[in-house]
Amino acid sequence: MPEMQSETREWQVVIVKHGTRSTTRSDAFMNYSFYGEQDAPFRLDYFFWVLRSGDDVVIVDTGYSGTEGRRRGREVLVDPVDALRALDIDPAAGHPVVITHAHYDHIGNLTAFPRSPIHISQAEVGFWTGSMADKTLFAHFGDASAGEAMASADADGRLRVFREQVDVAPGVRVTAVGGHTPGQAIVEVHTSEGLVILASDAMHFHEELEGDKLFQSMADLPLSFEVLEELRCRSAAHLISGHDAGELDRHRPVGGVLSGLAATIGRWR
Ligand SMILES: [Zn+2]
Repeated sequence: MPEMQSETREWQVVIVKHGTRSTTRSDAFMNYSFYGEQDAPFRLDYFFWVLRSGDDVVIVDTGYSGTEGRRRGREVLVDPVDALRALDIDPAAGHPVVITHAHYDHIGNLTAFPRSPIHISQAEVGFWTGSMADKTLFAHFGDASAGEAMASADADGRLRVFREQVDVAPGVRVTAVGGHTPGQAIVEVHTSEGLVILASDAMHFHEELEGDKLFQSMADLPLSFEVLEELRCRSAAHLISGHDAGELDRHRPVGGVLSGLAATIGRWR
């Protein structure tokens, strides 16, 4: 991951918590019994992220759809599309959308973005259109309707597939790192507080980084550990997890309709 250039635009990161789930530590972490720790209740939250700079907006992931959420018994705290409207963002305005990976909880609701360019890594597209995608261990995390939405974005010329790295805007760099899924991407954002890395599911919980544990489902175990090590070595001002239930508490709360469901990092101007 090359260092970000310092002369670039500043963005505000808005973390939006759209869902939550109560489970156990042994469900959240792979082979949890190996660590010799007692099992216990565990909560994980579901996020997507909005980047704002002046009138410009970049949307990072689109949460899960109501259909997928209900099918899996996931609680919907706020519909991601409603959350965007609460932030005065029109989903149909054509703002760029980054999909960090094609799991149902990151790629839902795509039909609400009919004019947006959709950025996703080549490895991710290749995997989900390849022969492995039907295996239950992988297919469990898919969203069939998202496949159709991607195909229609492709037909409209809105699918932006990047190989290793892409700057979707000055100061917003997306890099495919793999590990959790073959094309899992992270997003580096230049903010007034310094470099923010949206790790997405390259780091579901801060405990993965701190305790060198892995989430229950990872496509490539050695690479997942390497990515964690790489994240540890980066001098980011803030490293943002994909699902840590403590994530919102670490940042500046947003009031109004999204009170308790959103927090910001950096100035918006
Ligand atoms: Zn996820």
